Amino acid sequence: MDLKIKSYNHYKQESKYSLALIYTMLSMLVCVLFSISFIVIGATFAALIQLIAAFIYMIVSGLLRRRIKILTRYVAMMLSIALVFINGIYIFGPTYGFQFQLFPFLVVVFLLLDYNIDVERWNIYVISFITVFIFFVVQYVPSTPIFLNYEMYESYYYAISLAASFMGMLVLLFYLSREIFAVRDQLYSLATTDALTALYNRRTFIKRGQEAFKIAERGGNHFSIIIFDIDSFKSVNDEYGHVVGDVVLRNMAKHAKETLRETDIIARYGGEEFAILLQNTSADQAVVVAEKLRERMEVFEVDSQPYKINRTISLGVMGYHYSISSFEELVDKADKALYKSKALGKNRLTLFNMTDPFYREKRSNENKHKTF
Ligand code: GH3
Ligand code: MG
Ligand code: MG
Repeated sequence: MDLKIKSYNHYKQESKYSLALIYTMLSMLVCVLFSISFIVIGATFAALIQLIAAFIYMIVSGLLRRRIKILTRYVAMMLSIALVFINGIYIFGPTYGFQFQLFPFLVVVFLLLDYNIDVERWNIYVISFITVFIFFVVQYVPSTPIFLNYEMYESYYYAISLAASFMGMLVLLFYLSREIFAVRDQLYSLATTDALTALYNRRTFIKRGQEAFKIAERGGNHFSIIIFDIDSFKSVNDEYGHVVGDVVLRNMAKHAKETLRETDIIARYGGEEFAILLQNTSADQAVVVAEKLRERMEVFEVDSQPYKINRTISLGVMGYHYSISSFEELVDKADKALYKSKALGKNRLTLFNMTDPFYREKRSNENKHKTF
């Protein structure tokens, strides 16, 4: 468990640094483009400043690519703020709209730093505050920029700055939502499936079963369940070791799933015990499915070099019946039928039958235990 969490954090850090790299390289590109446009309009000093910034971005991205990560993200971020500040206060003034680039930049701050780490959280607060502060300083504090004589280009740069800021915002939001959806899907699959076999887990099986039960209770489609357990599985572990045991388990699970229909829900119910929910299937039809499954498993060999391992399964079948009050009770009956299959010598299936004295005997034995 610890290992998993550590590797997830590692993945997150890696993705942060690759994002930092993309951000730095894009910033470099933007600086170069601005620099060219400044040369075209004759503002060579401004162009020089952009080129110097592009050069610094280049060094930062070089460091990031060599995985030298200390402070590089911060240098890239500070440089962006400084550029807006210099352009907005000293070179062109607020009417050129460079300060609007600070809006997408605010999102960048949250993406590049890690809100879960105390130090970085405080850095996010501080840098965000500085960003907003710089925006208002550029926008409202009177300044005397060097280039007052480029007013004819003012509205173009204003439009470009606004468009670039919106574009930046959009790209970042796309990136964010993709991350969020990826994480959501990952969490969903972790919560609903079993890590070893990739089948549904017990919780999902019960949830889906309870839903099916409610529908059947309201007079909807009937369904059946099969519970099966691998015969003498302990001996696989004992003879070949736990690792081979896992391989056998995984392959038998896969083979069982392939035997079933797409609409059947198969889950790993316990260690080497599996449960199947068959929609729109009567108990008699479920018996046919169970028998097919038993036959397929009987001849199935797991090829775990150098061994070929074969294990049979024992099954219990139970169909929905109006006299049963909950899905759990249904599972319990299927489990009892499975127990009977084991008791009768394994590699067989049993359909639960309420009138079967086998279960009554068992119940009276249990009661005896309780009274004494
Ligand atoms: P039976 O025919 O009565 O079912 O006998 P069995 O040996 O299959 O049953 P038992 O309940 O005695 O043993 C089940 C074994 O399954 C015990 C456990 O070591 C093994 N097992 C459970 N989960 C896993 C797993 O994830 N991996 C491996 N390798 N073995 C597992
Ligand atoms: Mg077993
Ligand atoms: Mg078992």
